[in-house]
Amino acid sequence: MTEPIKHSPNNPILLTASLHVDEARKAISDLVNELLLESRKLNNASDIELVTLDQAINRILAEDLLSPIDVPAADNSAMDGFALNGNCLGGSQDLMTLKIIGTAYAGKPYEGAIGPGECLKIMTGALMPNGCDTVIPQEFTESASESTIGFKQNQVKRGENRRLRGEDLQSGRAAIAAGRLLRPSDLGLAASLGIASLKVHRKLKVAILSSGDELRSLGQSLDPGSIYDSNRYSLTGLLNRLNLEIIDCGIVHDDPASLKAAFVDAASKADVLISSGGVSVGEADFTKQIMQELGDVGFWKIAMRPGRPMAFGMLKPVDESGSKTLFFGLPGNPVAVMVTFYQFVRSALLQLNGASQTEQLMTQAITEAPIRKKPGRTEFQRAIMGRGSDGKPTVKLTGSQGAGILRSMSEANCFVILPHDQGNIEAGDWVDVALFDGLL
Ligand code: AMP
Ligand code: MG
Repeated sequence: MTEPIKHSPNNPILLTASLHVDEARKAISDLVNELLLESRKLNNASDIELVTLDQAINRILAEDLLSPIDVPAADNSAMDGFALNGNCLGGSQDLMTLKIIGTAYAGKPYEGAIGPGECLKIMTGALMPNGCDTVIPQEFTESASESTIGFKQNQVKRGENRRLRGEDLQSGRAAIAAGRLLRPSDLGLAASLGIASLKVHRKLKVAILSSGDELRSLGQSLDPGSIYDSNRYSLTGLLNRLNLEIIDCGIVHDDPASLKAAFVDAASKADVLISSGGVSVGEADFTKQIMQELGDVGFWKIAMRPGRPMAFGMLKPVDESGSKTLFFGLPGNPVAVMVTFYQFVRSALLQLNGASQTEQLMTQAITEAPIRKKPGRTEFQRAIMGRGSDGKPTVKLTGSQGAGILRSMSEANCFVILPHDQGNIEAGDWVDVALFDGLL
């Protein structure tokens, strides 16, 4: 990657040469950054809202969440066992016998103090009683009666099996950093601090539309040559996982006036417009013309499979009070739509909404069969990840990999990602894998 890539439609590089997937990703991220800088100059407060924890899943935290308390709030036991004063431990093999003078329960502390030669039965989570700093776990005791325990002194060191006040979180420190895509554990963490609502970035408004004369809505009958519009449904599913606001602009026919009207309408309502169809070679000229009037959009040939043609850029504000709309013109093929969404759109939406971590996590697995691959493009094959008889992770492609074969996607649970320069792959080779679940 040498020259920075501009998204402009007038950039001849983008019209002729194929773009490396990483260059496309970089150009998208750069434009999103530009939009963020511009919008931050305009306003900020209106970008943030307070939501209750039950509404906060998959939203993006707008400010550091500061802990109002120490966690744990006081020293407590990490084990079921016996609390004692570690002063008495000599570190030898010798057996020590202590007298049990009471019990400390979680939520029911022992109020008194212990003296020399004494200990307390203690439950996990119970506050450490006065004078105690060490817990000998139940299973380390050699003998125990109602009133005494015996244990080897070297079984435990002073301070062990005790959780210290503030060990997890200190009052005033960030418990969750701004920019976190909130997951179930974050909601639990906020609740454990007594916090009932969180400041998050407002939901992005994302408009979707499908373009193509051949497309029919569900419920309509199919005349010869027509097909059902499936892309809006897979896109809706993908977007719903991000907890944002979806504006469904329906199906638009392949005529300039309808397309233009639909784009203007979407630009007036949405932060982002995602269309599918109408960017492949035969149709791009037509869409390009409209885009030249409405914004600054590049028509890319990306060195990837599936998903080669894609338009990307921004639509101008419809009026003075409006703002720019990020535009993704995804290819029409149903699998290509999902692949380009996972590869480009998802991270851009997260970035635009203030997320700090936008990249998808990858893992590796052993391919069960050889995979044919031409160097010079990144491939996203659909596969099922499992486990071999030796316990190692394996992948197996899901049948025919055509860009229009949605079943390959539906049956799969992951992409096998074959990098740009990669050639054919042998059975038994390790390959990069991105799981569908856990991506979002
Ligand atoms: P296009 O990118 O418009 O040339 O479309 C490529 C292929 O995807 C064609 O076979 C289209 O019929 C199909 N296609 C386009 N849009 C959709 C859609 N919304 N749902 C299902 N298939 C589509
Ligand atoms: Mg079309």
